[in-house]
Amino acid sequence: MIPPPFEYLRPSTIPEAIRLLQQHGDEAKILSGGQSLIPMMKLRIARPAYLVDINRIAGLSYVKEESGFLKIGGLTREAELEASPLVHSKYPILLDTAHVIADPQVRNLATVAGNLAHGDPANDHPATMLALGAQIVATGTRGERVIPIEEFFVTLFSTALQQGEILTEIRIPVPPAHGGGAYFKLERKVGDFATAAVAAQVTLDASGVVQRAGIGLTNVGPIPIKAKTAEDFLRGRKLDGAAIAKAAQLAADASQPSSDLRGPAEYKKGLVKELAKRALSRAAERAAK
Ligand SMILES: Cc1cc2nc3c(=O)[nH]c(=O)nc-3n(C[C@H](O)[C@H](O)[C@H](O)COP(=O)(O)OP(=O)(O)OC[C@H]3O[C@@H](n4cnc5c(N)ncnc54)[C@H](O)[C@@H]3O)c2cc1C
Repeated sequence: MIPPPFEYLRPSTIPEAIRLLQQHGDEAKILSGGQSLIPMMKLRIARPAYLVDINRIAGLSYVKEESGFLKIGGLTREAELEASPLVHSKYPILLDTAHVIADPQVRNLATVAGNLAHGDPANDHPATMLALGAQIVATGTRGERVIPIEEFFVTLFSTALQQGEILTEIRIPVPPAHGGGAYFKLERKVGDFATAAVAAQVTLDASGVVQRAGIGLTNVGPIPIKAKTAEDFLRGRKLDGAAIAKAAQLAADASQPSSDLRGPAEYKKGLVKELAKRALSRAAERAAK
């Protein structure tokens, strides 16, 4: 399938990209990995008159720790995340997540920023970023602003990014000692979007009591869901089997799935409960190491 005609623009700096986005307004779209946008254009779901390809902007692809954050650049590909020694050693939840996104071919091009900016509740990074308490750096005509991830997803396929803003960096607080996380996803076949998935990140104190819990849910509502009641329930409790079971039930209660070709809503709620149990149990194991 061939997309409708469009004008192709290729800025080499962020200010130039912002200027082009301002100039063409609603008619322009940013192109990064193209793994969501191009299929949508082929299906005529998106018809931008201008594509602003940001791939040639230098210095936007990195994974590094700085000033208390893991910083992921706005053009960092999934494959780069998977190859990062830092991610391997300290952020296994990110590795869990990247590994279950599509297939290696897609991951060679798809960017983490594009995965978030697309605003698709079926995408995998949003739940993980909710669990990790990430921050989004948006750069526009007035410079940079930082958006907490829980304010980022507004409605289906819509985010807090404003017209002309580029997602230039993702910031994840460096987990303290006794921090651990995990992402569990059920998909119908390898490479598919989630029937449901759960991300959990916990910080424990020396006696195993939860200091902070983050739980994010994938593809069980119109936007990625932060299971706040479950997080609040866990804080101050020992992360044992009973606490995990109760938190998993609360996470399932927070889900708002609809019945579709991936299964009935009740089945998906049950799935969230089971996946939350597994994600929290694995997070607890990793935090204890
Ligand atoms: C076969 C297939 C299977 C897939 N399976 C999965 C899956 O299992 N899980 C999953 O999570 N994803 C999956 N995806 C989606 C994939 O991860 C996408 O690449 C990702 O959602 C978008 O990233 P991108 O860099 O390709 O963005 P693009 O397609 O280039 O852009 C997507 C949207 O985000 C905007 N955008 C992109 N970058 C920025 C930026 N830096 N600042 C502001 N706006 C920006 C674009 O304007 C566009 O509206 C799949 C894709 C394919 C083709």
